[in-house]
Amino acid sequence: MNQLICVNCKKTYPLNEPFWRCACGGLLDIQFEPFLDLKKVKRRNPSLWRYREAIPIENDANIISFNEGFTPLVPFQFDKITVWIKQDYLFPTGSYKDRGATVLISKAMELGIQSVVEDSSGNAGCAIAAYCARAGIECFIYVPESTSPAKLAQIQMYGAKLKLIPGSREDTARAVLQAAQTHYYASHSWNPFFFQGTKTFAYEVFEQLGWRVPDTIVLPAGNGTLLLGAAIGFNELKTIGLIPDIPKIIAIQSENCAPLFKAFQENLPVIPTINKLDTLAEGIAIAEPVRGRQIIDAVRQSRGSFLTVSDIEIEASLKRLCRQGVYIEPTAAATIAGVEKYISNLTQDELIVSVFTGHGLKSTEKMLKILQHGD
Ligand SMILES: *Cc1c(COP(=O)(O)O)cnc(C)c1O
Ligand SMILES: [Zn+2]
Repeated sequence: MNQLICVNCKKTYPLNEPFWRCACGGLLDIQFEPFLDLKKVKRRNPSLWRYREAIPIENDANIISFNEGFTPLVPFQFDKITVWIKQDYLFPTGSYKDRGATVLISKAMELGIQSVVEDSSGNAGCAIAAYCARAGIECFIYVPESTSPAKLAQIQMYGAKLKLIPGSREDTARAVLQAAQTHYYASHSWNPFFFQGTKTFAYEVFEQLGWRVPDTIVLPAGNGTLLLGAAIGFNELKTIGLIPDIPKIIAIQSENCAPLFKAFQENLPVIPTINKLDTLAEGIAIAEPVRGRQIIDAVRQSRGSFLTVSDIEIEASLKRLCRQGVYIEPTAAATIAGVEKYISNLTQDELIVSVFTGHGLKSTEKMLKILQHGD
């Protein structure tokens, strides 16, 4: 049975009604039986929609797409160890958030939605704004005042209405919840359809490795939109019987904002309140992740763990990558700093996959500051 289900009270809702949260306030997940015909998949365009039967959109006519996805999987050497890296900074809006946006906004079309709200530290707002523009859906994006100017410009150039909220990322989240009482909330953290898009990361990795599953995936963990999607995707591949087990998930947080790392390390039943400090990795600086519990459970179920990285390590990784011709944003470099930390403790050969999540052109002002630091 395909349906929405509340993670708290287990109440179910049909997929074709515009719910993004349970009446009890709980998070909704999607129960959906995916289907993959690998022969059919191989014949299709190199986009994430090649896994069409695994994506819960009923009618093809509702699909809002730029033929995005199926990003290259490229080997990089770190300290003589090969890590395969998905080039997800090459999406149309410059981050992997397009994976979630193409599916979520297609669903909004299917539901006949005419206006959405979303809150973001930048990239999710860019992605939702772009796909709404393509769909002809009105869009309001709530962002913290401190968001990078390039992201603010991008959101507005797509024609979305920008709401600049004073204070923290958490203040922005509270402001949008008000608006979500009267608008469809196209949220990358609450709305379960977003994760039905980010799960294609797992399918693509599986196909691009020659229908093999990696031993380890190293992914960012703020709201966990890629991490939870990847976990859903690999678990589906396991359920279908295509892989024997899911990869170990290594989740990366910024040392300056690491509530999940702390909860995992100390085995806390709830996500602790933390004193969040400024970090270069603005995109994963989430003090109150709404799916925090799910992220920890997914990492644990995969036999993985959490690592934190400092701003000094992030900046060093960013510079090393840029000197190899890879222009990614500082938030994306946090994950790669995590990769470098992870492999420095490797005791055996592993097939490792990670990701470049966002494009450097989004962060010019931060790059200029980093350049002032010199080498
Ligand atoms: C969204 C994003 C991430 C991961 O963030 P989550 O909060 O875990 O979803 C990482 N890097 C970039 C560039 C992003 O835009
Ligand atoms: Zn409920």
